[in-house]
Amino acid sequence: MGENTQVIRKPLVLVASDDTGQRQLICGVLDQFGFRTMTADDGKSAFLLFRKHQPDAVILDVQQGESDGFAACEAIRNQDTGRETPIFIVTERDDEDSIERAYRLAATDIVFRPVSLPVLPHRIRYALRNARSLSDLAGLVRAIPDLIFVVNEQGEVQDGLSGPDATHTLQLKALTTASQIHFYPCENDDGALECIKRALQTGKPQVYEHVLDSLGIHLETRFVTRDKNTVLAIVRDITERKSAEAKIFNLAYYDELTELPNRELFGQSLERTIALAKQEQQKFAVLFVDLDRFKRINDTLGHTIGDELLKDVAARLSRCTRSTDSFAQVDPTASGHIKLARLGGDEFVIKLYGVDSEESVSLVATRIIDALTPPFTCAGHQFVVTPSIGIALYPQDGQTGEELLMNADSAMYRAKSVGRNNFKFYSETMRTKSLHRLDLENLIRTAIQEQQFELHYQPKVDAETFRLVGAEALLRWNHPERGAIAPDDFIPIAEETGLIIPLGQWVLVEACKQVKVWSTSPVGAVPVSVNISSRQFRENGLIRDVLDAVSLAGIQASQLELEITESVMLQDVEKTLLELKVLKEAGVSLSIDDFGTGYSSLSYLKRFPIDTIKIDRSFVQDLHLDTDDAAICAAILAMSRQLGLNVVAEGVETREQLEFLRKHKCNHIQGHICSKPLTPEAFFALLVRISGRAANSDHRAEKTA
Ligand code: C2E
Ligand code: MG
Ligand code: MG
Repeated sequence: MGENTQVIRKPLVLVASDDTGQRQLICGVLDQFGFRTMTADDGKSAFLLFRKHQPDAVILDVQQGESDGFAACEAIRNQDTGRETPIFIVTERDDEDSIERAYRLAATDIVFRPVSLPVLPHRIRYALRNARSLSDLAGLVRAIPDLIFVVNEQGEVQDGLSGPDATHTLQLKALTTASQIHFYPCENDDGALECIKRALQTGKPQVYEHVLDSLGIHLETRFVTRDKNTVLAIVRDITERKSAEAKIFNLAYYDELTELPNRELFGQSLERTIALAKQEQQKFAVLFVDLDRFKRINDTLGHTIGDELLKDVAARLSRCTRSTDSFAQVDPTASGHIKLARLGGDEFVIKLYGVDSEESVSLVATRIIDALTPPFTCAGHQFVVTPSIGIALYPQDGQTGEELLMNADSAMYRAKSVGRNNFKFYSETMRTKSLHRLDLENLIRTAIQEQQFELHYQPKVDAETFRLVGAEALLRWNHPERGAIAPDDFIPIAEETGLIIPLGQWVLVEACKQVKVWSTSPVGAVPVSVNISSRQFRENGLIRDVLDAVSLAGIQASQLELEITESVMLQDVEKTLLELKVLKEAGVSLSIDDFGTGYSSLSYLKRFPIDTIKIDRSFVQDLHLDTDDAAICAAILAMSRQLGLNVVAEGVETREQLEFLRKHKCNHIQGHICSKPLTPEAFFALLVRISGRAANSDHRAEKTA
């Protein structure tokens, strides 16, 4: 260590004495002990020197004159820099007044005459060490953002020790003016008083959180026992932490898009409801709500509009869960029981507590369907969104939350497969084994290998004459154990997993073979349309598959039509356009399926080589009831006429619908009003009948190999 640092580190002691000899003696000894010294011969000059040099310690041995040692002590203590400096006052051993006065003026220590020279340096050193510890502590206390003060058992503030803007001696006054937390009202706060009492009784620190409503500040106070009657209250502003915690809680437990509780939170609440229901011997229902064909809207119009729609749906569901009587009793205990949540995607779930019968649950399910019935308007588009609802009841349909959700889910699948826009109880579906995504994927794989698929054909007829104009090939899956599985249940999964490619190839080949069979039979050719999913377009090879199927079967390309959805036209427009043109030039007809549910863009229609559009069943369904749907249908029909397009109305079931369509010059219809989809045999029989060849009964219907 260098000489300089040594010098700098030597503590400086100011020795003030009106006795020159004494001064020299003290300085001499202190020198010996490694102190630096400076001297003054009266109180006043001692004070001036103090201000100028900031000595580390002061010895005041001044008795005469106006400005004696006491006056100097007081003056130094009044300096900001002098509050903690060790000050020694030299007095007579028996001069009690002086002793008393010295302490009152906050002298650090008293040194009696005659000054014991060997002891003095040690006392100074000791005092310096103390002062340093104290100033470290004070610095620490100042540095922490907490307010620290002393309160008694009644919660009354005794003393403030620190605060963000207060040096510790300024105490509470500074806290009350400078700090944002004006005052911490322990004495009016029962919770705080309780903690203080407990801290005093147990000697253990107590933590107490509360909110200053007026300021929106969250405080955390630690009460630490100080002595028999008082505790230290260490108050921390935890507002930021609280809001971060709230944010994390929201992220973990709420769905960002709809602000509804998410699956996690709903799951927890479900467990609580089960516990409650057990205790109260109550029943409750879990309704699993899934939107029909939402994926198609999302694919076609993009996620922004899909998201908007989900928000609107969430809002309608919230409104209906709030207003329906049956929901009023959902929440018997507190906010912990959640009625509505979004599980993800287009899946919502509703909990109905204390329902006593299936009828009352049915009533609520019907109200939910009704609430979603009016069309949604997003970004200028109108959508019809129908829900499929699956219902599981506690206790009969499941003992755990997971079981209830799973069973409500499979009941929902059932509701979808029997025609959407309705609800099904799990108990009804018990006999048909439930299907889940994961095993479905494996099932599809084996089904392709084991040829469990077949095609049914639904006639398309002229709206005026009912003359047959073609047929749509619709995929059917007959599972050996599970029975018939509806296309809407497995096609989305086949699309997601890519299994739609081999499946779609099979459909094309099979449909073309069927066309060949009919065209060589006496009933003559029937054009057949095949549904092509957007995934088939995205993968390369569709054109090859189509042309291969046509030439393999040896049919005219013009006898094959492809049904594509609007979403196909929106993905990679230029590539799609090119491919459609190639197909069109090869002679294949093209139609837009489910028109109206997606983008319904006129400009796209004009650009693409389309022959036909098929108005979606959801518009046809309520033609006679819903003026919106009727208006949309009429508009589509008028527009198609202008563009010279052929129109097929899908899902025509009633005479009213037919009349409306005829009135608006719809040329073709498809739907139960003329026929359901039929097996090839049944379709052939129909052909035979309508072609007036019924007499030719020995002609056996042929089924494709
Ligand atoms: P889509 O192409 O719109 O087919 C029309 C659907 O409406 C068929 O349902 C048909 O049975 C049904 N339908 C026809 N008329 C009526 C009626 O009057 N009332 C009612 N309620 N329904 C009627 P399906 O066969 O269940 O097929 C559903 C969807 O599955 C099809 O809708 C199509 O998008 C898809 N799909 C079917 N087969 C295939 C296929 O081979 N490949 C692909 N990619 N998708 C297919
Ligand atoms: Mg179709
Ligand atoms: Mg359709």
